[in-house]
Order: sequence, then structure tokens, then C-alpha cells
Amino acid sequence: MQKFSMLGHRDKVAVGVSGGKDSLALLYVLKKFFVDHNRTDLVAITIDEGISQYREESLQIVKDFCSYIKVETKISSYRELFGLDMDQAMLQRPSEKMTSCSMCGTFRRRAIDMAAESIGANVVATAHNLDDQIQTFMINLLSGDTDRIGWIYPEPVQYGPTGLKKVKPFVEIYEQEIVFYAVLREIPFQSEECPYMHESIRTALRAFFNNLESEHAGIKYNAYNSMTKISKILKTSSKESISNSKRCSFCERNSTSSICSVCKTIQVLSKNNM
Ligand SMILES: [Zn+2]
Repeated sequence: MQKFSMLGHRDKVAVGVSGGKDSLALLYVLKKFFVDHNRTDLVAITIDEGISQYREESLQIVKDFCSYIKVETKISSYRELFGLDMDQAMLQRPSEKMTSCSMCGTFRRRAIDMAAESIGANVVATAHNLDDQIQTFMINLLSGDTDRIGWIYPEPVQYGPTGLKKVKPFVEIYEQEIVFYAVLREIPFQSEECPYMHESIRTALRAFFNNLESEHAGIKYNAYNSMTKISKILKTSSKESISNSKRCSFCERNSTSSICSVCKTIQVLSKNNM
């Protein structure tokens, strides 16, 4: 956390909590840190995507765990924020080229920002780990999305109307270490997998890197370091374009084009409204 100056003394921190092991472990660690430093400004944010048979279990886990460790929770849903849920979006998407995970990721990032702003938080902490980070780098590389590679550099940037700062305290930790920690601390977590997850190339990349790691221990860490260096260079070189970015003509948030990815997705989906 210190390496990238993730937390300041007066920060109000919102933690994105899905109910998976990573985010519950992060909430647990941050709560411990806050108690040790006599701080109270910590809130868990949970987003209900509206995926039936899946989200109910984790919502209950989050509620129970938060009341157990005494952390306030804020639950927001895609339906209340964007007017539709994921199950509906899957039916209305024009083709399978709009993958579930890219739509859901676009909505989730915005939903977490909006929830954090609504409770007056200035820092959003998410549980992205080293494995997530190298997968995201590869996804951007493979899809030709080189502009986005600069964004994965873990040093926090402030953005949005209220100057939110996004931090990833687990970014240098292996997924497996977090699983180990969660089991050791008896942190409960959701067992049900997202029904739409098979659509993501992330699943294949995860298996690919884990296979490599089992034959060549430390290779994921090397990959992380190389990718971080590359993303830093790309971030610095595109700084101007980030600060000069336009505003979305619909929601007025910062955007790289005249309509942001969230509004664009909603527009495409509403065309197919049956
Ligand atoms: Zn917009």
C-alpha cells in the first residue's frame, strides 16, 4: 500500500466487495488496519448485477460478514442505476461479440464509482491481485486495446467529478496467497461461479499462466514486473490525452470520446428492447 501511496490519513475508503474470497479478504485486512489506527471511515460497496441464481448467495455472505466485522454496507444495483440488469442485457445484446464480462465490467466500474460518490468516499479500494493484473494486460494486448494498458499501472489517479482515487492494495499478491489467507482466517466466500464466466478469455488466460507458473515458479511475478514497466511508460506518454479528455454528452463524465462506454452500451441495448 505504501509503495504506491494508496491511503492517506483522512481518506474515506469504499471497498468494492463482491462476496468472493479476494474482496472479503481485502475488507478484513483493511478493517484490521483501520481498527489498529483508530479509524472508522470504511464502507463496503456491493453491486447487485441482477444475475439470478448467482448474486443472492453472495449478497447474504457480504451482509453477514460485514455485520460480523462491523463494517457498514452500501448495496447498489444495475437496475436502479442503469435501468436494466445483466440477465436482461444478455437477452438484449445485438450479438455475442458484446461479451457478458465486458458489459458487466463497464457497468460495474461505473456503479462502484457512483456508490462511492453517494456515500462521500474519496478512495475506492478493489481487490485486484497480481493474477488479475497480468490477465488484464494480456486481454488489452490481445484485443488491440493498447490505450488501456496505461490505465493498469497501479499508482492511483484521481478522476471523475469528485476526484475519486482508485487503489488496488493486493496488486502484488498472488491469487493463491489470498486463497490461503482467506482459508486461514476462516473468511467465508461465495462458491457459486458466475453463469456467464465461460464467455471470458480471462478464464483461459488464468489457466495458461497457472500452467506456466507450475513449471517455472516465479514467472507470473516476472510477467507482472515487465507489464508494470510497460504500463508506466504508456501511462506517462498518454498523460496529455488523459487530462485533455472530453466529456460524455449524456452523463457528462470524463470520456475518451463524445459518448462514454457506459452510455454507449445502454444505448445499444435499448435499441434491442423487446
Ligand atoms: Zn456517459
